[in-house]
Amino acid sequence: MHFPRRWRREALLRCDNNDENERKNKLIQIAIDGPSGAGKSTVAKAVAKRLGIIYVDTGALYRTVGYYVRSREVDPKDPEAVAALLPEISVELKYVDGVQVVFLNGENLGDRIRTPEMSMYASAVSAIPAVRAFLLNTQREIAEKNSVIMDGRDIGTVILPHADVKIFLGASDECRAKRRYDELTAKGIETTYEDVLSDMRKRDLDDSTRSVAPAVAAEDAIPFDNSWMTPEECTDKIVALIEEQIKGKKI
Ligand code: C5P
Repeated sequence: MHFPRRWRREALLRCDNNDENERKNKLIQIAIDGPSGAGKSTVAKAVAKRLGIIYVDTGALYRTVGYYVRSREVDPKDPEAVAALLPEISVELKYVDGVQVVFLNGENLGDRIRTPEMSMYASAVSAIPAVRAFLLNTQREIAEKNSVIMDGRDIGTVILPHADVKIFLGASDECRAKRRYDELTAKGIETTYEDVLSDMRKRDLDDSTRSVAPAVAAEDAIPFDNSWMTPEECTDKIVALIEEQIKGKKI
């Protein structure tokens, strides 16, 4: 039978769309939100390894923008000045041996974005709507092409509102500060437990009360307190929780 060329093209397009939809339906999205020091990155990294999916650390993106703003000696709380710098910035997310690396204008900043100062810069710039809009597609695009576990503050509410599983990870202030303190001192960064605790509380307050994308649990997020758990216990429980939630969907 002979079909007009236009029909064939439309049928092929429909076919492509079906394949594309099928592929997207097979992808898994897991959102992990919560305050700083709740162990999101440690657990998400371990869960990603266990499930064979990609871990996306979105805080690194805000830290990278904060780093650039600092390098240009601009006030990170000045929305107009920060927004004016954005056209000069290219932030790329890449995976090297399965590990996420963020490039700022082609340069891998490594641990330079992990200092307490960069935490505060990241928190300040992340409250600016233009910065959030600037980083939105980078985050969504990676989840459109891969199964991901993504951690941050607004993943379940803004970035991946249709995620298959949403977890809001928390722990007591003291536990979180102790973990962050141990992490920083292990990297040779000098600080005190008291400074870490007060910086963390300030950052939590700023992050959760800002008007744009505040760090709050999505309505359908599962709250999970890991105060007294080792990273391994927490990972085991979260993997079990995810498997229970996505029953029937193959990873
Ligand atoms: O997670 P991390 O501590 O690296 O994030 C640094 C800062 O970046 C947070 O305090 C928060 O202000 C901001 N952030 C955000 N939204 C995200 C991830 C991080 O606002 N999805």
